[in-house]
Amino acid sequence: FQINMDEIEIIGELGKGNYGSVQQVFHRPSQIYMAMKEIRLELDESKLNGIIMELDILHRAVAPEIVEFYGGFTIESCVYYCMEYMDAGSLDKLTGGGVPAKDVTEDTEDAEIRVPEPVLRRITAAIVRGLGFLKDELQIMHRDVKPTNVLINKKGEIKLCDFGVSGQLEKSLAKTNIGCQSYMAPERIKGESQNQLSTYTVSSDVWSVGLSIIELAKGCYPYPPETFANVFAQLQAIVYGPAPTLPKGYSADAHDFVANLLKDPNARPTYAELLKHPFLLADKDAEVDMVEWVAQSLERRAARGVKTLSPVEA
Ligand code: ATP
Ligand code: MG
Repeated sequence: FQINMDEIEIIGELGKGNYGSVQQVFHRPSQIYMAMKEIRLELDESKLNGIIMELDILHRAVAPEIVEFYGGFTIESCVYYCMEYMDAGSLDKLTGGGVPAKDVTEDTEDAEIRVPEPVLRRITAAIVRGLGFLKDELQIMHRDVKPTNVLINKKGEIKLCDFGVSGQLEKSLAKTNIGCQSYMAPERIKGESQNQLSTYTVSSDVWSVGLSIIELAKGCYPYPPETFANVFAQLQAIVYGPAPTLPKGYSADAHDFVANLLKDPNARPTYAELLKHPFLLADKDAEVDMVEWVAQSLERRAARGVKTLSPVEA
């Protein structure tokens, strides 16, 4: 179905990013709660329409690991698109990522482990399958893999959002990329500093998966807090420093798996290879109570004093 603003009731803000905000909305005709992303762009009408046309590909992005797309439209110089509302939010918020290590209070035995290994495996498997789907079925790479773009719901489903389907949108956003926590692979950072926008490939997404998994496991961005305030220092650390590693408490398989993701670009495994790694093979028949884990994480989140995710539930 087509969506336009007249049919939408805004409930409240779910979060803000570098380029705009995401609102929880209620779409009256379908009676569905949705997440609506607003991106403000200084573009002429034909370019904005181009973006909406390109976003249409998202209707074909139907997979268990991909957030459902409902439709997009423009108003003045803003692009809006509506997607499935994920009621447990993004992974960063669930596990306490995005804050420096020292601010994370701990209640597990191994002070560094934030996510039990079976849960980490399940999340990782979903991310890898989702990215494999995008590549194999839609011939696109994600380009923005990071914990805020991996969403989860109370059913325990894990889904990717915000992948690069629109070249025009990508181009319009690139110049304003000012994130203070970079998940970009070293080769991509080098390429961008030399203004070569396309020197990276799908293996750069693999790096970002590695960094995101470590963040999830530790509950904080993997590069040292000193680099938080200084973009240059952080990019230097990524390009020239040692790759981060998983906390000690995880298995040798887990360590090996993650180390592979952060190798030199040509040595990084493909998605098919990753799915055959012992770390992810172990997920296949494992019974993991994701529903319970999400419920507990939301409780811990509330105890940390973070406001409820859904303005509806508030
Ligand atoms: P960036 O601007 O670099 O992409 P970001 O991913 O944090 O960073 P947004 O994509 O604008 O920024 O999203 C803002 C926040 O809204 C996210 O961090 C996430 O927690 C929340 N969010 C986004 N999409 C959904 C959704 N479909 N359901 C629930 N929450 C969402
Ligand atoms: Mg996002």
